[in-house]
Amino acid sequence: MSFDTDSEAQHLKDFTNAAVSDSVPTKESLQHATDSLIVSLPEDGLGINRIKDHILNDLAPGFTGSSRCPTYYAFTTGAVTDAALFADWVVSTVDQNVHVHLPKDTVATAVEDSALRLLQQLLNLDESRHPSRLFTTGATASNVIGIALGREFVISEAGRRKSPAINTSVAELGVLEACFQAEVTGIQILATMPHSSIYKAASAAGIGRDSVVLLPLSEDEPWRFDLDALAERMSGKHTIVWISAGELCTGRFATTGLEMTCIRSLADQHGAWVHVDGAFGLQTLVLPQTEEYKALNDGVRSLELADSITGDAHKLLNVPYDCGFFFARNVALQQTVFGNPGAAYLSAAALSIPSPLNLGLENSRRFRALPVYASLLAYGRAWHSDLLQRQIALARRVASYIVDSTAYELLPNDDLSHIYMVVLFRARSVSLNERLVSLLNESREIHISALPWKGSTAARIAVGTWRVEVERDFGLIVKALDAAVDDTA
Ligand SMILES: *Cc1c(COP(=O)(O)O)cnc(C)c1O
Repeated sequence: MSFDTDSEAQHLKDFTNAAVSDSVPTKESLQHATDSLIVSLPEDGLGINRIKDHILNDLAPGFTGSSRCPTYYAFTTGAVTDAALFADWVVSTVDQNVHVHLPKDTVATAVEDSALRLLQQLLNLDESRHPSRLFTTGATASNVIGIALGREFVISEAGRRKSPAINTSVAELGVLEACFQAEVTGIQILATMPHSSIYKAASAAGIGRDSVVLLPLSEDEPWRFDLDALAERMSGKHTIVWISAGELCTGRFATTGLEMTCIRSLADQHGAWVHVDGAFGLQTLVLPQTEEYKALNDGVRSLELADSITGDAHKLLNVPYDCGFFFARNVALQQTVFGNPGAAYLSAAALSIPSPLNLGLENSRRFRALPVYASLLAYGRAWHSDLLQRQIALARRVASYIVDSTAYELLPNDDLSHIYMVVLFRARSVSLNERLVSLLNESREIHISALPWKGSTAARIAVGTWRVEVERDFGLIVKALDAAVDDTA
């Protein structure tokens, strides 16, 4: 394939040369984009040049621009590395479907498998412990898969413990019959400060949103598990334990290594399933084992004891949307739930790489492995570790500035040793606090989010981009924070 002679190369050049904005849209550009939308289908096409012009000049200035804006700290969207961008271009150009392992036809499933193993290496996760690995559309999809596996396991296990001879597979019998046979009247999902996708997963898996039970350690540390309460609640019940690693307002972690060991043995005792939602914090596993990161390293210690693990690549790995990943311990169980039998071309049973369409929600699948493969190999382990350390360094400098300031207050407390790549804070003045996030965002220097926090509003800075430059960005953030105080003075 030769890009320099293809018309595809021209598209890329047109895009690169266009003045696509590197900041969030202004009110005017959003209005213009909205007004310029073409809403009736033309009988005769308008032609590609007209549409290129429309996309680049009318619509693109109305997109969020978070990936290209170095001081976008609102949603944790990450950005896109050059290697990932190149690979994503190839993905769209070749239009490879990664559904079935067909080693005589394509290397695509082998690339996906390699990319996922490289990811496990990056995160220091033992490849043999979680042999089921898959790219998904994001952490929500991974969480749905994790909860569906948990449901299958917990109900089968309840049946097996009642009588080894009976089959209580939800995948085969359906939820109602399997639960009836296994004498299961409900499954509880025990969690602390979970991402909202827990409720979607609980609903989609037929467990129900009301089955989510929060077991916070205390009012001061609501992200941590109350292990005594957990042990008590698990006894005699059917349980999925959901570990928030980490929590997305505070960046704090639900467990320590010792607590994970404890949860694992409770789960084995009671036939429970342990799922880690690591969309936000799993990246911590790339940090060095130094004093500086001790609190963070404790938070991800022994997560590998989980049965299933969710991660997000479009966030901290800085590959394009959409890309999540999923690791689990039991390939056969996963194929029981998500297997797509019947189609003749799927029959090759004992394959070295399981066909992805038998492990996840989709049958046809985008080749989202390639940007991950490209980025991991182009930049290597050290770069990824250094990136997260720079993000944390910026967050900690801002946090420390806030602790020292009279106008602002660091949340949930003043402890800097637990600061990950997020800073949660509020203005001490109630009137400033009410306007804080809109003031900061209107300045257009930085872009952050407002989050509810214990009955009031807090502001959150989440540093997810590879474009982070600690000195420069610290200066910009402080300038914006100071200006907001002056504005109300
Ligand atoms: C972002 C996030 C999710 C949802 O991820 P998507 O990729 O948006 O589906 C789930 N859990 C946590 C902890 C997250 O931070």
